[in-house]
Amino acid sequence: MDKIAVFPGSFDPFTIGHESIVRRAFSLFDTIIVAIGKNTEKDGLFPLSLRMEWIQEVFHGDKQVKVDSYHGLTVDYCKKVNAAYLLRGLRTAADFEYERAIAQINKTLSKEIETVFLLSNPEYSSVTSSIVKEIMKHGGDAKPFLPNSNALKTFKIV
Ligand code: ADP
Repeated sequence: MDKIAVFPGSFDPFTIGHESIVRRAFSLFDTIIVAIGKNTEKDGLFPLSLRMEWIQEVFHGDKQVKVDSYHGLTVDYCKKVNAAYLLRGLRTAADFEYERAIAQINKTLSKEIETVFLLSNPEYSSVTSSIVKEIMKHGGDAKPFLPNSNALKTFKIV
């Protein structure tokens, strides 16, 4: 049976840290669905359609990656797409506490779904979507933190 993992997040925007987690997971799963949750409290700076396009461009040609969005509980979305795994990244101890709570609650909601954590590569442990967003909002150069996708790198907030 195919090993399907969902990598859920806001991806507002998708950074080199996110990309690294997905690429490192290639050897663990047959399919990785990068799924943008639409029900979070967080208001996205970038429109959902644009966030999806950017991620699609990053993995253009990588057949293992699919890009999607969902409403509702992440575990329900996993069941809908037959994913037995949730993929998450860990940068810091703060991430760990946050992720631990979500993973344990998800485990109670759905026993059959395992959350798999990958520790951030050291060079990406300070990269956060929030910081990248601030840089872009203020017209700074966020390229060092963005994947090699032209659409994303040339995007300007007006
Ligand atoms: P959320 O809104 O769920 O926090 P994010 O888009 O911020 O979603 O992040 C999605 C996942 O990617 C989370 O597990 C987060 O810890 C992880 N992540 C974010 N940035 C990095 C990074 N630089 N290195 C490794 N993992 C990261």
